[in-house]
Amino acid sequence: MSFDLLKERRAQVVRNSRDAVVALDCNKASAAGSVSQRACTFCGSRVVLYPIADALHLVHGPVGCAAYTWDIRGALSSGPELHRISCSTDMREREVVFGGEQRLEASLRRLIAQHVPRAAFVYGTCIVGVIGDDVPAVCKRVEVDVGIPVIPVLAEGFRGTKRDGYNAACGALLALIGTGDTAGVTPHSINLLGDFNVAGESWIIRKYFEEMGIEVVSVLTGDGRVDEIRRAHGARLNVVQCAGSMTPLAKAMQERYGIPFIRVSFFGIEDTADALYRTAERMDSPEVMGRARALVSREISRVLPDLRACKQHLAGKRAGLYVGGAFKAFSLVRALRQLGVSVVLAGTQTGSREEYEELQAVCDENTVIVDDTNPLELASFLVEQDVDVFIGGVKERPIAYKLGIGFCDHNHERKIALAGFEGALAFAREVRATATSPIWNLMPRRRRTVTTAMGD
Ligand code: SF4
Repeated sequence: MSFDLLKERRAQVVRNSRDAVVALDCNKASAAGSVSQRACTFCGSRVVLYPIADALHLVHGPVGCAAYTWDIRGALSSGPELHRISCSTDMREREVVFGGEQRLEASLRRLIAQHVPRAAFVYGTCIVGVIGDDVPAVCKRVEVDVGIPVIPVLAEGFRGTKRDGYNAACGALLALIGTGDTAGVTPHSINLLGDFNVAGESWIIRKYFEEMGIEVVSVLTGDGRVDEIRRAHGARLNVVQCAGSMTPLAKAMQERYGIPFIRVSFFGIEDTADALYRTAERMDSPEVMGRARALVSREISRVLPDLRACKQHLAGKRAGLYVGGAFKAFSLVRALRQLGVSVVLAGTQTGSREEYEELQAVCDENTVIVDDTNPLELASFLVEQDVDVFIGGVKERPIAYKLGIGFCDHNHERKIALAGFEGALAFAREVRATATSPIWNLMPRRRRTVTTAMGD
């Protein structure tokens, strides 16, 4: 690399080479002093469970942990919006010294009486792990009295990485699954795992499956409902969209209920078509497959002309991407390639060693591949790789704008649906609008290049 890295970080960055696949030293605690872009373990559990809209979400800890994760996803609900209230036990010095169990129990009873949720999730934060409040015991006591599931989510921020938070959330979901009645679930049925209905994306995907004659028993957790999750064990297949967060749940459901799973992505037209065909194949029904073919052919002919128009403007542009999980990164590399854009920087917060190997296989020669990066590194990579458009989340946006680089939000705060066929077109339009904006030519870094090229 032509830039400095902290010594502890060197094994987490690689320049891609066709000659050798490098095993990245990933899936571990962030290096001290690195100011990681990654969120804490508690946050990992919160982002997975947050979209369950008729559940109470109570953060047991100082108010800052709840504020930090308030309305953390743009996860839309077609009904109740209980998920958007950030409830906290607001622990202070008194609770830290004498224990917070009483306060937790009182808060839970009051909030359940006030909001009448279908279930409650109680998140343990760092301080709760340190002082040793018995959160499961409090949950059990309240559950017996109020008659709804009250589920502890033990994901203290220091417990591990954000991925450990995903695992804790999967454990909480497993406590609900299997407790509902599966009568009436049809043979052609699925659960959609790892779609969080950001900007209404679950609705787009659900519509495709319904057109194919497939029942969506539950979406975990986009536009989530407790009663749907409770009967998820009746579905024939689990379709896993966000593999980083939901693979542990899919594996556990396979083991416990014998439900097989496939990993898919709905980002980009190729991956969306592939996801629909592979799901149809598993339904073992010529009729379902016929409907899938008709749907894919109709949707592709609808969006292809506009995608081709975007490609004319984008051909030759260079992109950087930094996202939560590796499966999204694979899809984005493919979707951008189809638009004529080469990915020269690709990174994730939570990729595993196997996922980084796959990312190296998908990416071009010389792409910088990075695990759990920080703002200084990202800024250096973006300049060194001469990136035209950066794709990331809210924490990456200011880095791009300060450098005078186009930016596209592909994280949970986005307001435009980017999944499915119509989402692929929306993504292409977003990338084109930002990558080709003349505003970037006025930024000092680009102005130098432009004026030099003009002989100034
Ligand atoms: S690291 Fe600990 S204190 Fe900070 S937000 Fe996460 S749980 Fe709360």
